[in-house]
Amino acid sequence: MKVCFLDIYPKKNYRISKDQNGGFGTANNYGENFILKILSAYIKKNIDYPPLFLVQSMAELKKNQFSVSYSRSLDIPNKDLYVIASSIVSHESEIDVIKSLIARNKKVFVIGPFATSKPHLYSSTGAKVISGESEFFFKDFQIEDLNKFKNYDDIILFKNIYDLDDLSYPAWDIILKYSKPVMKLLGRGLTIPISSSRGCPYSCSYYCTYPLQQGNKLRLRKTDNVVNEMLYWNKNYNVNNFIFRDPVFSLNKRHTLELLNKIIATNKKFRICVETHLKNLDQETVEIFKRAGIKIVYVGIESGDKEVLFDSKRTTIEFDSQIEKVKLLESKGIRVKSMYILAQPSDNETTTKKTINYSKKVPSTYAQYSIFTPYPGTPVFEKFKDKIIVDKYEEFDQWQLVFQHLCFSKLRVRELLNFAYLSFYLRPSWIFAYFKKILLR
Ligand code: SF4
Repeated sequence: MKVCFLDIYPKKNYRISKDQNGGFGTANNYGENFILKILSAYIKKNIDYPPLFLVQSMAELKKNQFSVSYSRSLDIPNKDLYVIASSIVSHESEIDVIKSLIARNKKVFVIGPFATSKPHLYSSTGAKVISGESEFFFKDFQIEDLNKFKNYDDIILFKNIYDLDDLSYPAWDIILKYSKPVMKLLGRGLTIPISSSRGCPYSCSYYCTYPLQQGNKLRLRKTDNVVNEMLYWNKNYNVNNFIFRDPVFSLNKRHTLELLNKIIATNKKFRICVETHLKNLDQETVEIFKRAGIKIVYVGIESGDKEVLFDSKRTTIEFDSQIEKVKLLESKGIRVKSMYILAQPSDNETTTKKTINYSKKVPSTYAQYSIFTPYPGTPVFEKFKDKIIVDKYEEFDQWQLVFQHLCFSKLRVRELLNFAYLSFYLRPSWIFAYFKKILLR
């Protein structure tokens, strides 16, 4: 039985990722300025990998003897079953493809966090939606189950009560036949996304999409299982670069230290990227990050204004402490990308400029600015659902204003976004420090 996983994207000259933003997806449309267009093109070329939930689901069907393929093309091959990776950021493009498959009487499953949150958007096309972690559904899905496809509910509900160690390694071997996952900021060669945990208990789930699919409860993989997976890709595919896709790496300190000590014990020269919360970092953790080969750390700072942080229920630490922790990471040669959200509901010109100015005091190598977006399924969406000003879900890409803001127009927010990027990256001090780091690497 042949199954094709379809990973559909609208045609854009900037990167669109379905893996980021809790699987809802995001874009890297930095701005209209010539320099920012070059930055967008650079990121599109140099950071690219399919969503982990798709590759994990492929592995389960492969294990059950399906012949599994992957495609991003609209020229769709003839198969017995299609599995579409959903996202908000490619939603309308995905729907067009699903409709054309349904018109040809094809069997279609839709998977992923966005379809989990808004299943009716997809089930209304005639596709079957797996609402929950699809890899656990496919784990027990056998070839003969395809004969009873029409008996499945239009929306198949799954709860996250499953053990992550029950899953196969994601099917990167299949992906590699079609595309090369890369993250050049980590270094040359292939980069494999991997996960050691799922779920996040923090209060910023008020606006964050990660817990919608993964839940608020932290679920951990056994550390041996994670390290063995890294060794497997290293031995068989010469992979040295790994991106941990845990919503917050190092939520459980004991687990983190155990994992990193085991990575150190492999004596491999892995290059690793993680996303974490500054709250969870201390001298001991940072030391071990360095020894384990963590080269890049993403941290959400979100705003430079306390009231804005309070209003968005952001779990945070004092500003001085943020600066100290970023300084500590950078002093160990670990590059930090600090992430900020502009035009939050309680932001105005003053607080937004405060955030941009604060971002230049935080001594991180990289900064990312995005625009506050109330996502369907999150608690904050309820407040803004009647104030949405865009027509397509694909416009929920974190790079434009999608709701009626009390203080900003769409245009003004883009101006502030452009200003934030240019004023961060065009500082002589930043340019000097960056090239010094490259030369010393
Ligand atoms: S720390 Fe907050 S923003 Fe980050 S994954 Fe958890 S809930 Fe989301």
